[in-house]
Amino acid sequence: MLNLIKFPRVFTINQVPKVFHEDGIISGYRHPRSSATDCILSLFQRTNETLNIWTHFLPSWYFLWKLLTVVLMQAVWQDSFTWPLVVFLLSCCVYPLASSCAHTFSTMSLRARHICFFFDYGALSFYSLGSAIVYSAYIFPDKWVNGLFHHWYIPIAVVNAFISTIMACYSRLGFPFLHYNQDVVKRFHECPKPKFSKFLRGVAFIYPYMFDNIPLFYRVFLCVGEGCTDNETTVLHYQHISLAFLTGFLFVSHLPERLAPGSFDFIGHSHQLFHVCAIVCTHLQMQAVEQDMVTRRPWLSVNSTPVTFAGSLGSTLLCVAMNLLIILIFSLPLLSASVCQDGKHGNEPKASNKSCHCS
Ligand SMILES: [Zn+2]
Repeated sequence: MLNLIKFPRVFTINQVPKVFHEDGIISGYRHPRSSATDCILSLFQRTNETLNIWTHFLPSWYFLWKLLTVVLMQAVWQDSFTWPLVVFLLSCCVYPLASSCAHTFSTMSLRARHICFFFDYGALSFYSLGSAIVYSAYIFPDKWVNGLFHHWYIPIAVVNAFISTIMACYSRLGFPFLHYNQDVVKRFHECPKPKFSKFLRGVAFIYPYMFDNIPLFYRVFLCVGEGCTDNETTVLHYQHISLAFLTGFLFVSHLPERLAPGSFDFIGHSHQLFHVCAIVCTHLQMQAVEQDMVTRRPWLSVNSTPVTFAGSLGSTLLCVAMNLLIILIFSLPLLSASVCQDGKHGNEPKASNKSCHCS
């Protein structure tokens, strides 16, 4: 059956525009102006993106199944205590799905690549807000519950989500209309300063993660004496924190392909390992959160302020609406871009195109 399907050609690094290059990856590049059909076909083809797509596509269905079991098995709409878990599980479905879609369709054109990854960044910042909402409800150590930091924790996390999305989108091309326009001639970040761009993107995701984890780090690493909530979930928290740091390390290090360029093009490069670690980390985080939720419920029901709509579903809706608006604003100049970046789909990609910088 697969013999009857004509898979699109793949290319080496020298045959595709610089903006599509990945450190240490030499072969397996898809055509930089692939059709949507070719992008979908590439899921079943050996390219350097195939495992990037599957390592997030399949887990998104696993988290959707977890979300549905919670929604269908528990009376969530009558029980506001479960709303943070629902929000968190929703964010766990969205970020791998957005990532797999971004990796699938990012080779349709240069502008599609940017827009795809804008959505990926928005989904990641939504996940960081989902983590904050669930931590606020179930993770805070006893002695911090209802304190000043607890009171401001979610509002700050919402603001962090906006800043994170803006920073990550900015890291690709700068600000829309100011640094790039429909001709995409003024942009300078993605091409001349790829390291700064990557650094900025790393900061955009690491700083909300560090903020979200302040109560957890305090609880498991610093707190001593009464009110530290030292329960059986602590081991699970250690495990997902360790994996989170490994995930971050893989993202920034580009290991192992940096040591042997071309050897890990299809299997085993850092972005695949980064995806797998992120999913295992999220799975452990979910288990820890659920365990804390169940074991601490009697104490939290008596001592903590009840979960509000504004502090859970309301913040989520605000975050989603604002992130979509931010993505739209950053995408507007690209949506009205000239055909310069989106020329006709030919057999041979052009490695450089002087009239379109970096493409
Ligand atoms: Zn990815």
